Amino acid sequence: MTGKTHASCGLLVGALTIEYFHTDLFTSVTVITLAIISSLIPDICHTQSKIGSRFKLISFFIRMIFGHRTFTHSLLFIVIIVCLLYIIQAPIYYLTTIILGLLSHVILDMLTPRGVKLFYPIPLSVRFPLVFKTGGLVDLSLASALAIGAIYVVFQPFFNNLLMNWL
Ligand SMILES: [Zn+2]
Repeated sequence: MTGKTHASCGLLVGALTIEYFHTDLFTSVTVITLAIISSLIPDICHTQSKIGSRFKLISFFIRMIFGHRTFTHSLLFIVIIVCLLYIIQAPIYYLTTIILGLLSHVILDMLTPRGVKLFYPIPLSVRFPLVFKTGGLVDLSLASALAIGAIYVVFQPFFNNLLMNWL
């Protein structure tokens, strides 16, 4: 999937997290930012990706050591991140948004023909029975649908008010 699709899904994850935890404005902005970053982080193994091009050196080494879509797209990686966040005692809403952001990335990549090495270091490519080409029509529509969903979740109280006034 393209960075746009991943970021849109991250946005939706962040929106749902702030909705669930009823966080204040400052925390909400942080939650959404963290969600978008963590939804892009697994592609750090890809130097041409949105996040990889920003951290070229780290990206280069991760790709050299692990290869593309292996370690950073695995359950092992997510478990390590969760342990680290647990050690630094990150608040539950940050923990949730980061885990969901990472998971959303892995799940979206499982919708592509190449799949992901979910059980790295076991070299098994995991993908859904139904896959879509990266940058294809489904990918682009998905990005838009996810972004619209996120905007709706964030502004839901506002939309509800608007509807109430109309009716
Ligand atoms: Zn990826």
